[in-house]
Amino acid sequence: MELTELKKHIRTLATLPEADAPVISCYLELLNGNIKDRETYRELARTVMIGLSEHERYIIKETLEPVNAYLANALQPDAKGTAIFSRVGKDPFFLPLQFRVSLPNWISLGSVPNIYHLVEMKDTYHRYVVMISTKKSARIVEVNLGEVTAKLWKERPELRERVGREWTKEHYQKHSMERGKKFIKEKIKLLNKLMSAGGHSHLILAGHPTMTSRIRNELPKYLLEKLVDEVTVSGQAKTTDVVEATIASFVEAEEIESQNIARVLSQKVHTGGLAVAGAEASFQALQRGHVDTVVLLAGYSPGLFRVCVACGFTNIKNKKLDSCPQCGSTSLKISDLKEEMVRLAEGQGCLIEIVNESESLTKLGGVGCLLRYRL
Ligand SMILES: [Zn+2]
Repeated sequence: MELTELKKHIRTLATLPEADAPVISCYLELLNGNIKDRETYRELARTVMIGLSEHERYIIKETLEPVNAYLANALQPDAKGTAIFSRVGKDPFFLPLQFRVSLPNWISLGSVPNIYHLVEMKDTYHRYVVMISTKKSARIVEVNLGEVTAKLWKERPELRERVGREWTKEHYQKHSMERGKKFIKEKIKLLNKLMSAGGHSHLILAGHPTMTSRIRNELPKYLLEKLVDEVTVSGQAKTTDVVEATIASFVEAEEIESQNIARVLSQKVHTGGLAVAGAEASFQALQRGHVDTVVLLAGYSPGLFRVCVACGFTNIKNKKLDSCPQCGSTSLKISDLKEEMVRLAEGQGCLIEIVNESESLTKLGGVGCLLRYRL
């Protein structure tokens, strides 16, 4: 699946209006076109029904029916993860997705879809361009979410059969070196064109180290700034194997980028810049639509919060409330705070950076926002 397509799906999920019936969000790890761990899936499906009435259980079973049918019939042999969203009732909704990268086993039940794991995947794997170069050929491919989605260009220059009797060895070597240089220059020109046309921001060079370093030395500044890494692969390697080898290096580079953004956030928070930190200030900034980028620790777990269904009063301080302090209504909805922040951010088209490890972000409470305007 392409990144732009995933972005569209996330937007749809983030803005799905609530209905009477609940939404089941089901994430599963796959292996060879099957659920990797069936027992865990059964266990998770049982767990969401705990504490429900008989009628509610009936609804959940109905909601899971299309999910089970999809899992039984529609999984692709090379998919490694699936995310399925299902709702029955008056406003039915069903959105099944499959990916070439893994997803955790996770099922949740709520008034809206649980999108965090999709958002994390989008941030982690994103998309990039790989140029695979050997002495004789070059390939440029686009990788979206860990999968080759487009072969942008492929060339095998004609073999050196023209070396005939009329050429001395010296003549041939000079010719071949010049041709090699010209070949690299032409490839880079094309790469430049493809990357700017596709709006690409990340590049990985793959191939024999001599070849990748020759290319790196010729890269213009514009492309050098986008270079994530150089990965050594053999000339005979299949494109899918090459991509497999580049994923880890992209994920690592992405984490470093995210950590840098966390540092920028921390700096801005401490110098009175356009930024806020902590659950309360971040949530407020999101509610007011002032956020440009949400920076979040992957392990951030602020727990549940309560919203008054009648007046919208939000209490995120995890205090147990029986009634709304603003209007007195006892109709309070409980939601997951991290999930709600991600949903608000995606619904508004904010950027979300998820960081695995960051000391500065941990000190800020695990979440913060770079703002568009001051609160
Ligand atoms: Zn209220």
